[in-house]
Amino acid sequence: MKIIAIGRNYAEHAKELNNPVPAVPVIFMKPDTAILKDNKPFYHPEFSTDIHHEVELVLKVSKEGKHIAQKFAASYFDEIGLGIDFTARDIQQKHKEKGLPWELAKAFDNSAPVSKFIPKSEFKDLNNLNIRLDLNEITVQDGNTKDLLFSFEYIIAFVSQYITLKKGDLIFTGTPKGVGKVNIGDHLCGYLEDQKLLDFYIR
Ligand code: MG
Repeated sequence: MKIIAIGRNYAEHAKELNNPVPAVPVIFMKPDTAILKDNKPFYHPEFSTDIHHEVELVLKVSKEGKHIAQKFAASYFDEIGLGIDFTARDIQQKHKEKGLPWELAKAFDNSAPVSKFIPKSEFKDLNNLNIRLDLNEITVQDGNTKDLLFSFEYIIAFVSQYITLKKGDLIFTGTPKGVGKVNIGDHLCGYLEDQKLLDFYIR
């Protein structure tokens, strides 16, 4: 499986990092070795002194597809969950300045903690879902999918023009504003609506 992630999909987050609001989705990928499950602790890597949390709504792809039309895109995911797109911001900043790819900042081991997945049918409106991250019991990120620049359907249609989606692939749909550094000992809790799905520590 693969992880496809969307950068700068909330305008307020693009602004907080002094990035332009994109006209087309910013896409990057993480390998399967980035997955961290079951609320296991995240071990802070030594190669970065500025690992940021980015809480995101995650789609789980339910069937293979390419060149998917936007009007059919919703049928390509059945379940949603929460994930953290851990980002080595110091490394990313250096690579951005040189116009280099982001993999070392984004795709490292365990950089994609994911929650359990929930059938999307359990939610009334996927375009009005609150996602939230608490850091040490204080809310640091609080967003709503109504503020997505590119909808889930648009993302699926767009990505599948280039990359075949397969059953089990995960799509990280972008983070709302409020990203920041994590430190050893921190406690992260992520909420989708009122359900706590992520609950783990930085070690
Ligand atoms: Mg992200």
